[in-house]
Amino acid sequence: MSDATDPVKNETAVILGGGAAGIFAAIACAERSPNARVIVLEKSPDLLAKVHISGGGRCNVCPACFEPKELVGCYPRGGKALLGAFHKFQPRDTVEWFEKRGVPIKAEPDGRMFPASNNSQSIVHALLDAAKNVGVDIRTHQGHPLIETIENGFFKVQPQGASAIVASALLVATGGCRAGERDHPAVLLGHSLEPPVPSLFSMNLSDKWAKELAGVSVPDVALHMPSTRWSQGGALLFTHAGISGPAVLRLSAWGARDFSNMGYQFKIHADFLPRKNSDDIVRWFDRNRRENGAKSVESTPFNGLPLRLWKALVSCAGLAVETRWAMTRKEDAASLLAWMKSAPLNVSGKNANKDEFVTCGGVNLKEVDFRTMESRICPGLYFAGEVLDVDGITGGYNFQAAWTTGWLAGAAMSRQLSAQ
Ligand SMILES: Cc1cc2nc3c(=O)[nH]c(=O)nc-3n(C[C@H](O)[C@H](O)[C@H](O)COP(=O)(O)OP(=O)(O)OC[C@H]3O[C@@H](n4cnc5c(N)ncnc54)[C@H](O)[C@@H]3O)c2cc1C
Repeated sequence: MSDATDPVKNETAVILGGGAAGIFAAIACAERSPNARVIVLEKSPDLLAKVHISGGGRCNVCPACFEPKELVGCYPRGGKALLGAFHKFQPRDTVEWFEKRGVPIKAEPDGRMFPASNNSQSIVHALLDAAKNVGVDIRTHQGHPLIETIENGFFKVQPQGASAIVASALLVATGGCRAGERDHPAVLLGHSLEPPVPSLFSMNLSDKWAKELAGVSVPDVALHMPSTRWSQGGALLFTHAGISGPAVLRLSAWGARDFSNMGYQFKIHADFLPRKNSDDIVRWFDRNRRENGAKSVESTPFNGLPLRLWKALVSCAGLAVETRWAMTRKEDAASLLAWMKSAPLNVSGKNANKDEFVTCGGVNLKEVDFRTMESRICPGLYFAGEVLDVDGITGGYNFQAAWTTGWLAGAAMSRQLSAQ
């Protein structure tokens, strides 16, 4: 038996995916269309699983950035398409949305926003309560339904082991896609996917000296990949396998596709003193020669550099442990300066285990109208969230893209249902 309704009038919207984008879209649609049926089909047993684990269990719900032009600069892919969308729904709206539903949101000094409870459950509960209050029909364990377009531009959605649903609007919010997914709902409905590759990952290094610094963090480092435009700055953390921290994650996001093409084997240069120019450092060397001649170089770190890192740089520069400032030659100073301002780091792989892992790639943005999130290929089909070729750097930008595109899609589906 079919869940079908009147073949001409159909006020049913089906949403594939019970993640941030899908649930947010379902609420936006159901709130505006109280008579419509809004059904979420989630393949796994869990709803909002990534929201739950996000931000180390605290959920970095959005960035404290309220200027659309500035916001879009934090999306390696999709920024241009999102500009108009952020004029309709941006972090200020996200904060208001959650606060209206009883979840105060706070900004941290680094510009990330979290629920004041510091607990992602507050966000999960607010979303699920809101969905329940507006009558969204959420069904879990409903993966890979068969989907076909039928007469009148409707979709027939046949979940495994359940009756078919006829819907006039279908939203695909299934999250990041995997390589070669020929049975992806977007592909089955005529869309193309930009090949998915990981974004936001730590980097493994083959340099023994760097791995010996595991645990050392440097507050401000500029990373640059020679002969490319990829450079990023910020805090850097040495790990037992290589490097992590905001500067590394941002670099991984901007260069995601190139790094994948290079098999994650490439060289980057680290400037450990990006706010000091070489002349300042040379003057500091000279002062040490004059005033600290009897002190060993490795016991006199440049102000702001962690001692362990300084010792490693002194050693990489070829200075013997016992070298005193008075003994340093011109070549020693040049070598040390080079390691401080442009230390070569040999990347030998990526590590995605503990990171905020996001997919670069997904539904081709040219095929989607970002005013409504409707497909330009298949009328009545919508997209939201990470399934799109949109991804942001760390800091809440990825959830913001999910809220914004989910909100736009939900509102547009509601308009479509009421225009039936
Ligand atoms: C560990 C971790 C921490 C993160 N922390 C943050 C953070 O603090 N801030 C931030 O901005 N971003 C963070 N992110 C990124 C953020 O979680 C994602 O960008 C966001 O969840 C994308 O939302 P989405 O709804 O598009 O996709 P998802 O959240 O992935 O949801 C997609 C849903 O669709 C379901 N699904 C898939 N295929 C089908 C199908 N065929 N049929 C039915 N259902 C299907 C999936 O099971 C899933 O539930 C984090 C990511 C990870 C992995």
